[in-house]
Amino acid sequence: MAGNRVLISGASIAGPALAHWLHRRGADVTVVEQSPRLRPGGQAVDARGVAKEAIRRMGLDDAVRAVCTDTAGAYTVDADGTVLETFDAAENDGDGYISEIEVLRGDFAQVLYDDTRDDVEYVFGDRIAQLTQDADSVDITFESGDRRRFELVIGADGLHSALRAMVFGPREQFVRHLGLVLAFYSVPNEFGLDRWMLDYHEGGRSAGLRPIHDAAQAIAMLSFPAQDFDIDYRDVDAQKRLLREQMAGVGWLTPQILAHLDVAPDFYLDQVAQVVMDTWSSGRVGLLGDAAYSASPMSGAGTGLALVGAYMLAGELAAADWDPAVGFARYEERMRAYVLANQEIGRMHVEMLTADPGAEPAPEPDMDAMMDLINRAVNGPELPAYEGLPDRRA
Ligand SMILES: Cc1cc2nc3c(=O)[nH]c(=O)nc-3n(C[C@H](O)[C@H](O)[C@H](O)COP(=O)(O)OP(=O)(O)OC[C@H]3O[C@@H](n4cnc5c(N)ncnc54)[C@H](O)[C@@H]3O)c2cc1C
Repeated sequence: MAGNRVLISGASIAGPALAHWLHRRGADVTVVEQSPRLRPGGQAVDARGVAKEAIRRMGLDDAVRAVCTDTAGAYTVDADGTVLETFDAAENDGDGYISEIEVLRGDFAQVLYDDTRDDVEYVFGDRIAQLTQDADSVDITFESGDRRRFELVIGADGLHSALRAMVFGPREQFVRHLGLVLAFYSVPNEFGLDRWMLDYHEGGRSAGLRPIHDAAQAIAMLSFPAQDFDIDYRDVDAQKRLLREQMAGVGWLTPQILAHLDVAPDFYLDQVAQVVMDTWSSGRVGLLGDAAYSASPMSGAGTGLALVGAYMLAGELAAADWDPAVGFARYEERMRAYVLANQEIGRMHVEMLTADPGAEPAPEPDMDAMMDLINRAVNGPELPAYEGLPDRRA
């Protein structure tokens, strides 16, 4: 058997989830995260259908449910706050628009990190600076100057993946901007928000408020259409200026929400984008989660794809006795249809949000085809049992 030292770049959702499964399958795992500590923040992320089964198999059902946001559902409202539509979280077996398992991204990452920290080496505040691979191994030079050798390297470093750029090509080659920009930040709950989320739409722009555990706080969510997006995703001041300009004149509670922008402790803004690649591996380097196949936040499936992908990737590599060509190919085969279905839903959601209000209404969708798509996106692929593989937690 080949050696199985694996380096994972990125410690958010995909990275620690993969670390969990690789450790169980017998690998020696190191995770490198560029941030000096686990990154807090981020809005709610959801797990539906097959992703809930992936959480159960990790043995983390109770831990994840303990940090769920407890959102009862969502109301869409008009400019006066009158309720237009109601979406109850209990609908569709908890797999609906507001899902039963809805967790703040930072809380989810913490659960995954706590679960793996004793079994896996975490290196914070560092990143891969150089990578060279041959038939047997990958040589890594870290930015800190450390040099180490691994048998496999996996990029779980998100939409803007540096590892993808280093091995597969520049981000423009793979990142598809869907024409919408999304921003989130915490605001004091001066809006009387209870367990229900509020959502307001006006001419392609939207503003919303989401309740969280801490009833004194809420999360503001704002979106606007933008065909071009040339602001550096690290330049927070420029992003805030852009948001204020683009949301000017939007009604409902939008001005009060924007009044908290300057002091927001956890501001996040990014283009709604997907990653489209013909292959997610090159030699001994593979990609997982948003780095490989972001479906965008508008799919509501980024976390599910990362969790299910982590299970499959570790399982297939171990089943192939750590042969990357075989393991990566089987992981792709199992994941492709699930990824494509969720990317389609992400694109449809953006089209609905950004539709020109003056345009002809879209033709009625074929409901059978729509139900089939939702089924493929939620229930995804069957998770193999991987019987006979090592399991250090059996
Ligand atoms: C701060 C933050 C907030 C987010 N907020 C939301 C949200 O509100 N709603 C939503 O739907 N999705 C959000 N996401 C994305 C969501 O987490 C993903 O869609 C999904 O969970 C899949 O996660 P991932 O682990 O593949 O990627 P990500 O969650 O993007 O994580 C990538 C990780 O890699 C790290 N990283 C990046 N570059 C390097 C590098 N060169 N070397 C080492 N580490 C690196 C990042 O710091 C991060 O920890 C957010 C992500 C982050 C990082």
